Amino acid sequence: MSMNNTQSQVYDVVIIGAGIAGVSQARHLLLNIPNIKIALVDPRPEERTEKDLKVGESTVEISTLFFGKELGLYEYMVENHPPKFGLNYHWAKEPEKTEAIDDYYHVWSIKQPPLASTLMNRAKFERDVLKMNKQMGASFYNGRVVDVDLASGDALNTVKVKLDEGYLELKAKHVVDAAGRKFIIGHKTDNIVFGSENLHGLSNGSAWVRVKSVDRTIFHSGYDPLGGTCSHYYATNHMMGHGHWVWIIPTDTQTMELSIGVAHHHQVIPAQSLNTKEKFYAFLEANHNLVYQLLKSGEDIDFHYLPRLAHKSKTLFSQDNWYVVGDAAAIFDPFYSLGMVMMTFQMESVTEIIRAKLADEPDVEKKRTVYNAFNLGYIESSNHLLREHDKQLGHASIMSWRIYLENMWWFGMIVPMYVGKWHLDLKFLRKFGKQSRGVVRKLMVHVYEQFNELIEKDANIGLMYVHRGGQLPFGYYITQEFDSYLQNTKYEPQRCNVFAYMKNIYFFVALWYLKFLWKGFGISGLLSPKNLYHVFNLLKASGESALDELIFKFKTKGVPASSIIADLTEEFKSYQYQPELQPWTEKVTEQSLQSNSKNAAKSPELVTLDV
Ligand SMILES: Cc1cc2nc3c(=O)[nH]c(=O)nc-3n(C[C@H](O)[C@H](O)[C@H](O)COP(=O)(O)OP(=O)(O)OC[C@H]3O[C@@H](n4cnc5c(N)ncnc54)[C@H](O)[C@@H]3O)c2cc1C
Repeated sequence: MSMNNTQSQVYDVVIIGAGIAGVSQARHLLLNIPNIKIALVDPRPEERTEKDLKVGESTVEISTLFFGKELGLYEYMVENHPPKFGLNYHWAKEPEKTEAIDDYYHVWSIKQPPLASTLMNRAKFERDVLKMNKQMGASFYNGRVVDVDLASGDALNTVKVKLDEGYLELKAKHVVDAAGRKFIIGHKTDNIVFGSENLHGLSNGSAWVRVKSVDRTIFHSGYDPLGGTCSHYYATNHMMGHGHWVWIIPTDTQTMELSIGVAHHHQVIPAQSLNTKEKFYAFLEANHNLVYQLLKSGEDIDFHYLPRLAHKSKTLFSQDNWYVVGDAAAIFDPFYSLGMVMMTFQMESVTEIIRAKLADEPDVEKKRTVYNAFNLGYIESSNHLLREHDKQLGHASIMSWRIYLENMWWFGMIVPMYVGKWHLDLKFLRKFGKQSRGVVRKLMVHVYEQFNELIEKDANIGLMYVHRGGQLPFGYYITQEFDSYLQNTKYEPQRCNVFAYMKNIYFFVALWYLKFLWKGFGISGLLSPKNLYHVFNLLKASGESALDELIFKFKTKGVPASSIIADLTEEFKSYQYQPELQPWTEKVTEQSLQSNSKNAAKSPELVTLDV
């Protein structure tokens, strides 16, 4: 192609960026929409090197289900990426003594969680899934998008790509910006939002390194026979401290590669004190000496510093058929690994909008509007989960209560909602949005303030152990099932009884809150009308969900948990036991005669051996 001759190609979808969001979105579209024509553009070559290492190496239930179940990559993940046994949290007993793991209080994951999750080597994942996309028919352009021309409505959009040998124009109705923090569409449409005043006070940065060949026994010997039935090392380990937390994520089981980084709040730790490798190492040496020793046991690969971590978008799925996903859409802090969860919800919504649009379905614009609102709401909640972190991260007691509560919402509402595909159900989403804003958000704002109050009073209200039972009445524990959705594979849309979960979780959160009030504020806390208002709100939401549960049960009466199992049961009706075997010995005799005669021609000794 000559420099002056700009060629033009037309696709159904052009995806800018072949990072994890880009390659995953492409695969999801290819799997769900037969014959869809997709182009992916990325300046990085297909083969990725150590220069391409990225953060975002820890997945949780929803993102793992997306990669395994929705993208069909279970085997690939097992063969290529480390396993993960939950999230562990550690707080130093004394800030000045952090040399050994016993210098910390721990909240260890105690067993394999019911839904497994994985850690991942990002460069490997992106390279491999890009190849799979190409095999499935996607086109890959190894170039840089230099401009987008976004047309209004259903007119074709244009993506201008600079290749080594010239320029290329890609045209498509649908353009997905998955180019991470380059904000290609974000800048073009003034869609991106920064600044702590717009982000629930969040002002954070992050430094990280990759090392290999570490001696993992420095972190933990692996011997803890009474502590649990899973690995402590293969997990996301969080070393918590004042105004920061440090992650330890193994990204390879063979080369002993580790990702170690800190997310820090500028209010407590300014950027200038962490923005070089030397400062980061010195910070760890002084504040998490154990992690420092672990780092020093290996060989360095890279160092990065990101002074401004958080941002969000105003629109995610535009009526002009452009979409932002992954880091291009929003990211706040790696705590709880929600980056790829937000991404999962976004990508499934995008696929459904594009599918409905290509099929000319009448409700497509309604879907776009509601999915856009739901995804913005989910982003907002993920942002809100970091509120007041600067003050609370280092307080082991308060933070353990906070982690427990936030996990109640996760396992009791978000995970079943996702598995049941309720995040794509318009009617459900409208109601869910209202309840989240009216009940959950209000409670959380109030509780975070109460946490601050207790921190100011130097309170110790005990350690809540998120992975254990026995802390709330009625035998409740975080991963308790209130519907047999996992046991009975209720994986088709809207089969999982999410309302049973919501009924229970609102109720148990009310119990959590009462216990918290009692421990933190005594009888006056329990009797304060301001607090009782939230208890009442929770119980009311629980009651409403109980009604929804009844309606759901009535509507789905006679509907099987899984149509695959229903079909199997049906087909099995004609099963008849047939005690017979198909003949095989004759074939073998024939074959061995043939091979014997071949061998005889080549080498007589071998034949003798064979016999
Ligand atoms: C410190 C940190 C830790 C994190 N940890 C986690 C975690 O543990 N778990 C989690 O779920 N999330 C985590 N996240 C969030 C994580 O960043 C995202 O989940 C994920 O990396 C987003 O991937 P992406 O594909 O959107 O962006 P990227 O991985 O940045 O990919 C963008 C792609 O676009 C390409 N590109 C750039 N410019 C152009 C252009 N002009 N034209 C074409 N292509 C272009 C790039 O080459 C790149 O390949 C973390 C984030 C940070 C900052």
